[in-house]
Amino acid sequence: MDPCCTTRPPEASAPVRCPSCDRPGRKVDRITVKALLRSGALARLSAPGHRFCPGAECPVVYFGNGEVFERPDLTLPVFQKEAPGHRTVCYCFAISEDDLRREMAATGRSTATERITSLVNADRCACEVRTPQGSCCLGNVAAAINAAKEVAESGGEPLALSEETPRHA
Ligand SMILES: [Zn+2]
Repeated sequence: MDPCCTTRPPEASAPVRCPSCDRPGRKVDRITVKALLRSGALARLSAPGHRFCPGAECPVVYFGNGEVFERPDLTLPVFQKEAPGHRTVCYCFAISEDDLRREMAATGRSTATERITSLVNADRCACEVRTPQGSCCLGNVAAAINAAKEVAESGGEPLALSEETPRHA
């Protein structure tokens, strides 16, 4: 039998790369997609599996066989796809880039990673139903802390600054 004619399970034909930007996507649990889609988008959910596109400029958040869900289809802004400055970094415990900057301005460092790690270790995180990427946010938190550090060290103002400037001399 010609191997190209054998029937594959649906999982094998599911796209690995985003149909819009061609970035490889990471698999997300179905419960993540279900939890974060708005009702209208949820009502058309049909692919058996989905991946998350991390591309900042790409509108696609989840893609599966024959379907995509874009930013407006989700109930939450997606960290990877929003402009840096005021984003929520940790969705489970509501820690924003503003919180990181405020703490660093006040104390010179951020304890967010330690705080989140201890909450994760206490089994209190719910990334699979609260975080668009469906997995732990600590990598994003570390990146946001480094970005905030660079801004502080350069003496510059954070990107997309609004009136919520941390008050420090
Ligand atoms: Zn994409």
